[in-house]
Amino acid sequence: MNKIFPLQMNTSDFLFLIGLVLVFALLFTMLDTSRRRKKFRLELPKIKTELQCISCGLKEIRDFQEDDYISKVTGEKCKKCGEDLKIIAIYTPPPKESTSK
Ligand SMILES: [Zn+2]
Repeated sequence: MNKIFPLQMNTSDFLFLIGLVLVFALLFTMLDTSRRRKKFRLELPKIKTELQCISCGLKEIRDFQEDDYISKVTGEKCKKCGEDLKIIAIYTPPPKESTSK
């Protein structure tokens, strides 16, 4: 009569299975949360500083440095003419700007 259900189990097996599923669900939730946190940390926008040569107008973009401010002459030199570079903008690029490499 019991052979109608091929996966017939007794109660303790059933409870064990439920427990197992719960443990796995909990594990996956924890893994998912930690993964999402890590991803979030990686996606923090990098601040960029845009510099322009005071002589020839050549623009250069580099990572923001702590004491950067707009109109500061950083002491960095233009690659083209060797003149001073001045900061013209500080900004954060849009977060979905993935460097496709
Ligand atoms: Zn220049």
